[in-house]
Amino acid sequence: MRRKMVAGNWKMNGTASSLTELGNLAYSCKSAKAEVLICPPATLLYRAANVCTDSKVEVGAQDCHSATYGAHTGDLSAEMLHDAGATAVILGHSERRADHGETDQVVRAKAKTAITAGLTAIICVGETLADREAGKTLAVVGAQLASSLPDDTRGTTVVVAYEPVWAIGTGKVPTVEQIAEVHNDLRASLVKRFGGETANAIRLLYGGSVKASNAKEIFAVAQVDGALVGGASLKAADFAPIVAAL
Ligand code: PEP
Repeated sequence: MRRKMVAGNWKMNGTASSLTELGNLAYSCKSAKAEVLICPPATLLYRAANVCTDSKVEVGAQDCHSATYGAHTGDLSAEMLHDAGATAVILGHSERRADHGETDQVVRAKAKTAITAGLTAIICVGETLADREAGKTLAVVGAQLASSLPDDTRGTTVVVAYEPVWAIGTGKVPTVEQIAEVHNDLRASLVKRFGGETANAIRLLYGGSVKASNAKEIFAVAQVDGALVGGASLKAADFAPIVAAL
């Protein structure tokens, strides 16, 4: 049985004053049944982890370098993030793929290092609007999945987030049929590659304009094990009802 998960991605938002909101969120989620994760900017990780001590909320990072240490000015290793209190890291988010030219191969290398450092790798895949309109959604997402996941993936070390690029921050959400089609396809690909035991332990999150008002409907889709949430994770009042919908 896969444990449900709701992960919040604060992106490049938040300063020390946001920790009060995180405290509110931890309080609101005190009876959460799902795994709850908040990924603040790296500058807040250590303090966020302290705020969340003894709560149901864990903290994660938004990226890591693929190397374990060395001459990579401005970058952070998975071990450093783990040391700061992170339990997971988002990898291959479409904004990183677009802004930093991250390829599937880079994402796979980062995932390997993250897992070795003891972090859960939340690997993002998703098609652009042009891909969808060209009927290439399953091919694009399938190729990203195949190339971004390490061969030695084990069920609990990796989470896959399906995030259509056109749904991120736009208020546009795929139909439940479209979400189901991709999630079913992802699960089938995982089973083919890793076998049933590993594949059925990997959680598949949906991400893209998830809000309190649509969460229940999305969570009812078979093979959706939770959500990766951007904008609605910044405020406890928006995020807590999403967690409660699982
Ligand atoms: C995201 O950035 O991962 C995301 C899903 O954003 P939003 O919820 O704001 O669409």
